[in-house]
Amino acid sequence: MADHPVVVGKLLIDGDWVPATSGRGFDVVDPGTEEVIGHVADASAADVDAAVRAARRAFDEERWLRLSSAQRGIVLWRVADLMASRAEELARLESRDVGMPVSQAALMVAEAVNQFRYYAGLADKIHGSTVDLGPAERRMHGATYREPVGVVAMIVPWNAPLIAMSMKLAPALAAGCACVLKPSEEAPLTALALGRILLEAGVPAGVVNIVTGFGPTGAALAEHPGVDKISFTGSTAVGRKIVAAATGNLKRVSLELGGKSPVVVLPEADIDAAAAGIAVGIFWNSGQICTSGTRLFAHESVYEKLVDAIAEQGRSMKVGYGTDPDALLGPLISRRQLDRVAGFVDRGVDAGARIVSGGQRLGERGFYYPPTVVADVTPAMEIVREEIFGPVLCAMPFTDLDDAITLANDTEYGLAGSVWTRDIAVAHRVARRLRAGRIGVNVHRAGGVQMPVGGYKQSGWGRENGPDALEEYLETKSVVTMLDR
Ligand code: ADP
Repeated sequence: MADHPVVVGKLLIDGDWVPATSGRGFDVVDPGTEEVIGHVADASAADVDAAVRAARRAFDEERWLRLSSAQRGIVLWRVADLMASRAEELARLESRDVGMPVSQAALMVAEAVNQFRYYAGLADKIHGSTVDLGPAERRMHGATYREPVGVVAMIVPWNAPLIAMSMKLAPALAAGCACVLKPSEEAPLTALALGRILLEAGVPAGVVNIVTGFGPTGAALAEHPGVDKISFTGSTAVGRKIVAAATGNLKRVSLELGGKSPVVVLPEADIDAAAAGIAVGIFWNSGQICTSGTRLFAHESVYEKLVDAIAEQGRSMKVGYGTDPDALLGPLISRRQLDRVAGFVDRGVDAGARIVSGGQRLGERGFYYPPTVVADVTPAMEIVREEIFGPVLCAMPFTDLDDAITLANDTEYGLAGSVWTRDIAVAHRVARRLRAGRIGVNVHRAGGVQMPVGGYKQSGWGRENGPDALEEYLETKSVVTMLDR
């Protein structure tokens, strides 16, 4: 699969691989070489309709719910086993599709496997409660049932496709839903590989359908009256469109959107360790992660030393092609993204920012951009306010911690953040005051499937990971029984 030069993808509808009805397709490009590595189907609104109808039939016929919850868990565990047995192949494919080094893609595959194992274990632990209806109503028995929300559409981005889709599919399937998945047009290949694995593991036909395509394919899903719930990961701009499209049938909506996460460093922090951790927090996956720590607020007493140390960490990270064993970072996903990232940095410099390291695109072929540290920024600058989605850290000194926290929270986003200090009390105080869904203490990004993630403010609605994610795919029904009739 991975070494095949061109993957030809079809749509997965009702257990069959079918071409788009229009016959149209599009090329998938390796961002490291700009070579075409795949050609996949471009699903029209008619294809989306067929996929949603297939999911509805599978749900109504209880093809998945017919299995006991324990059996569904076993199937999900088998998905994890199959993914693990093909981990290398999947990592190579993800690497070619997204650009990230194979070693990093392997970590992503492992995390996607964890998603299926975690929710496999939870599949038979979903239950409602019995309710005491009070002495006057002893004749009544109250109970709540937890039921799957129905047909779920999932729209995912390109930056970490396998994780993004597994963190939706695994809990939705554990909850008993039927799904229609739309991967990103920029990186659709591992979704198709996962589709094959799901069928092989025994997920019944129609329970997971996959439609590849661009924005209009996603829009057709978001407005489809046959979809009960939409779970979206992507930009805040598209998130708003999803919400608007969902109003037709008032489908439920979960959103995992953008971020501009702060990193707050106190004077007593271990500066060397902080520099290494902060560099990983911003540069990993070339900054193409919504939780990346993009705004550094460092106490003035450690600011210069820390900024230089992070810049040095960045310089030491080799940027290269996915199969280069020394490369820690790959290219950006596309020329559009490269132009976007470079544009932000160039405009930042025009506005008075100082480049400490990086700041110039690399090479002629492929979409490479180096780890970049930008200092002397001010809170109002575009580069500080907008999500760049690239390996660019904006650094600012602070004198007073209260001011730093105010500035850290001065953003429309609220996805993540971190605080770096040896003083545990200060760490907890800052963690409480940052308005974001996930805070690291002396680490920027940590915790896997067990820890809920999601956004405050305009970073999203709802949570993924942990038991919380199951809630996104369940309804609660109250059942009251009159006992003496
Ligand atoms: P990015 O620019 O980082 O790819 P987007 O938010 O544009 O993030 O895309 C995330 C996902 O949303 C992709 O699968 C994309 O095809 C899809 N998408 C884009 N526009 C729309 C839309 N109007 N409605 C639904 N999905 C969309």
